[in-house]
Formats: sequence, structure tokens, C-alpha cells
Amino acid sequence: MSRFLHPKYAALEAYTPGEQPRDRRYVKLNTNESPYPPSPEVTAALSQTDVEELRLYSDPEGKALKEKLAWYYGCRAENVFLSNGSDEILNFAFMAFGAAGAVFPKPTYSFYPVFAQLHGVDYREIPLKADFSLDVERLCGTGRFTVLANPNAPTGLAVGLDSIRKILDSNPEQVVLVDEAYVDFGAESAAELIGQYPNLLVVMTYSKSRSMAGARLGFALGDPALIADLERLKYSTNPYNVNRLTLKLGAAAVDSALYFVENAKRIIATRERTAGALREMGFTFPASQANFLFLSRKNLPGEVLYQKLKARGVLVRHFSDPSLADYNRVSIGTDEEMGIFLRETRAILEEEGLL
Ligand code: PMP
Repeated sequence: MSRFLHPKYAALEAYTPGEQPRDRRYVKLNTNESPYPPSPEVTAALSQTDVEELRLYSDPEGKALKEKLAWYYGCRAENVFLSNGSDEILNFAFMAFGAAGAVFPKPTYSFYPVFAQLHGVDYREIPLKADFSLDVERLCGTGRFTVLANPNAPTGLAVGLDSIRKILDSNPEQVVLVDEAYVDFGAESAAELIGQYPNLLVVMTYSKSRSMAGARLGFALGDPALIADLERLKYSTNPYNVNRLTLKLGAAAVDSALYFVENAKRIIATRERTAGALREMGFTFPASQANFLFLSRKNLPGEVLYQKLKARGVLVRHFSDPSLADYNRVSIGTDEEMGIFLRETRAILEEEGLL
């Protein structure tokens, strides 16, 4: 830290992203990326792009892409906000809607408390129940900006729209943000509630099911007034937040939506096969509706499994939070990648005398 840093950031504990290693080739199961490439239509859109266009700024309104997403989700362009990855929306949302404080479950996406601290938002964490299910009652009527990942990360568990409605109904004076980064892998989307709840903001990303993490594209769906609030913050920080290439590729991905829906189905099938094999090896985990499993095993500390897998060329996510020490979060890759992961895991269990 330099002596020039504003003192208000001195104690800020920044978010730690998953490793993006360059030392060797790993079977990379640590950041919930898709193992499949973007759709052929996205590839075609990229190859047809004239580099000369990069001379020009991107459309700050992102009109063409908003219209496509509005069509896909059955709403209007003024219900859509575009961002440089969905993390940017979370950042704006904490900035915009945190005046009365925030509330979110624990454990959840570890970026939420960072955004809260960054913007001086007082936050309360509601522990998940012992089986990792959401304590819906305690999230009702808090009078605070409510942030909910559905499915939750890192557990993978989702709640139904009945629970989301309950939270929305109980908190009409506050925004309820539903972070649906992983919704395409089996959960119910709250997008269909847009139009019924002026306090609902649904946040989605191209990073997971749409195989475009590197393009950095997120979007939010909500009441036009909430979208206008986010636009106000965007135009006060970075009006061209989504670059030209990404706007174009994002639109091509909507045109080929069937492709990502099919990929999500493949990932779900691979997840269930992997879950079955892990269960046979004595692992336990919540019934994931996301593209990852949050696993633990008796007599095998999470850190040991993480390190040993890494030494064998398989990268999974281990969290520094001591309450998560027993666990690892394993992204679902291709069948072949999961085969390698299972083979190496079995070998480690044998080495440890656990099989
Ligand atoms: N929400 C959750 C729950 C996530 O796990 C992630 C991925 N780290 C994000 C949002 C942000 O994803 P992105 O910025 O790539 O859209």
C-alpha cells in the first residue's frame, strides 16, 4: 500500500479470484468456466469482424444486444442493463441500493462482503442451515438490500420461485437482487417475475453456460427505474463499459441460444455421473443445481485433496475461509476431464489409505 491511498481503503480486503495458472497445463476445474467453446455463430461473428471497427467506441447504450436479450427473456429493452461481467452489476448494485444496509447468506459468493465494504454498506450475514439450505424466513422482512445467489455458490443449492416471491413480498421497500450466474444448470429463473416486482433485480452472466467468461459480459433484468439507477452509475464511471467485440459476440450468442441450452444439459448429465462416482468413493455434497460440486470427505482435509490434485495436474477451488476448510468446489468439465479428476481422486484416496 502506498502512502497515497485514500485511508478509507486501507482496511479493504480485496476479493481473491480463482487461480489462472500459466506454469503448466491443468485440468482446470477451479473457476466454473464452461469446458465447451462459444457457439459456432459466435466464432463466425468474430471472424467476420473488421478490426478497423475497433477505432470506434462501442455503443454506450448497447441497444442491439439489449433488444435481443429482451426478446429472449420476454421483456423490453428498458428492462435490460449490460455490464462488463456481472461482477460490475454487483458493484453498481451495492453502490446504488445499499443505503439501508445489505443482507446475504453465509457462505455465499465471497465478493458480496467485499462490495459492501468497498461502498461502506453495513451488512448482515444469515448463516445457511446445517444442510446448506437457505434460511428463507430469516431473509424475509429485513428492511435491507437483499442479495441472493440462486443457485448459491459455493454450495450449488437453489431455492424455488415461491421462496424468492416470499422474500420479495416481505421487503417491498428494498431491492432484492437474485444473482443467477448458475441458473441455466437446473434452477428456476426469477426473470419471469420481472414486471410483477418493482424491487426485483435479476443478474445473469455470459461467463458460465454461454462459454464466454473471457469476453466479460453480464446483464441485469429489472424494472426500468432500477435499470435507470444502474445506468446512472455506469454513465458516472465508465459509459463504454462493454466493448464493441463483446457486444457483437453477445448478440450472436442470443441468436444461437439453443447451443448453450444443449451444453448446459450436457454439463448437468456429466455432473450427475460425477456425483454418482464421488458418492461411491465416500464423498458427500449438496445436490448441486449448478456447474460445480461442493464436496468433502471424512478423514480427508480439503487442503490435502486440493494440493494433491494440483500436484497431479487437476486444479479445483479451495477457500481460505476456515469454515470451508473441509471442502473443495469442483467445476464440471467435459466427461473426459471429469474422468481424469475421478481417476486422480481415487489414486489420492488409495495413497491416503482411505479406499
Ligand atoms: N456471481 C456469482 C455467484 C459467481 O460465482 C460469479 C463468478 N465468479 C459471478 C457472479 C461473476 O461472474 P462474471 O463477472 O464473470 O459475470
